[in-house]
Amino acid sequence: VAKARTGNSWVRFDDEMDAAMRRRSDLERDLARALEAGEFVLHYQPIYDIASERAVGCEALIRWRSPSRGLVTPIEFIDIAEETGLIVDIGRWVLNEACGVAAGWPRSVGVAVNVSPVQFRNWAFLSDLGRALSASGLAAERLTLEITESLLIDDIEETVRMLERIRALGIKVSLDDFGTGYSNLGYLQRIPVDRIKVDASFVRRMLENEADAQIVAAVVRLSRGIGKRVTIEGIERVEQLEHVRALGADEAQGFLFSPGVPADELAALLAPRAGSRPSSA
Ligand code: C2E
Ligand code: MG
Ligand code: MG
Ligand code: MG
Repeated sequence: VAKARTGNSWVRFDDEMDAAMRRRSDLERDLARALEAGEFVLHYQPIYDIASERAVGCEALIRWRSPSRGLVTPIEFIDIAEETGLIVDIGRWVLNEACGVAAGWPRSVGVAVNVSPVQFRNWAFLSDLGRALSASGLAAERLTLEITESLLIDDIEETVRMLERIRALGIKVSLDDFGTGYSNLGYLQRIPVDRIKVDASFVRRMLENEADAQIVAAVVRLSRGIGKRVTIEGIERVEQLEHVRALGADEAQGFLFSPGVPADELAALLAPRAGSRPSSA
């Protein structure tokens, strides 16, 4: 093989480029058909109030059940859906589906929907929100939108205006993956969000790595200091839960409690008490 490579590296490089481009356009083509073919599904991951150990919400997480590719995770297709603009239609479907399903849950349990900056930057998004709520009958207060810091970089003024309109409808907003973007602490007190979600990457090594522990502690203190609730993502071990409980975090989400599951497997996780105690997870 090494021998075949010498002298042929340009050819091979071209071949690899071609193959990559073909893979990409195949993916785009399949993705464009996936929505109409009904291939997307939502899984729901419970979010627990740390003090009461009750589920207070679920995050809707999209999966693509592709006939040819199997179950595809969002990491593999959201970027492409954003680049092609398909995310607008996909995102609208997610919103309607999640609100419709959540309307059947106990009233104390809300639903959190991830929103792409591409959706958010279009004012028509406001009418999508209104329609999803009225069609499902879900109370606005039970819907949370999860946005990321990338929205704050481009046009903070426009983002703030949009957030104000959204919150005027009664919808809640969380700042997702906090700490992984270009966090500008000055923005934090200016943007109207209800909750900050500490990214799982800091939680993963929190108990072994002092720097990560300090970051998590600082974000929890800061969030609470400016009057926002704070959710810790990626809790996989009881010791991590106890650690963030001691820090004063409000909510926790992670494999310790449950991964995302199909809607019909949620009932047991949402029932008050039953299944909600981390010790039984
Ligand atoms: P995210 O919003 O930060 O969602 C949390 C991700 O962490 C999910 O991955 C979830 O399965 C995973 N996770 C939850 N608990 C744990 C844990 O204890 N340990 C570890 N290692 N991981 C955990 P998933 O479902 O693959 O989603 C990845 C990302 O894709 C999401 O990150 C979100 O940014 C995006 N995404 C998912 N659904 C949608 C959607 O409907 N629309 C848009 N625009 N983006 C979505
Ligand atoms: Mg999220
Ligand atoms: Mg996150
Ligand atoms: Mg994430």
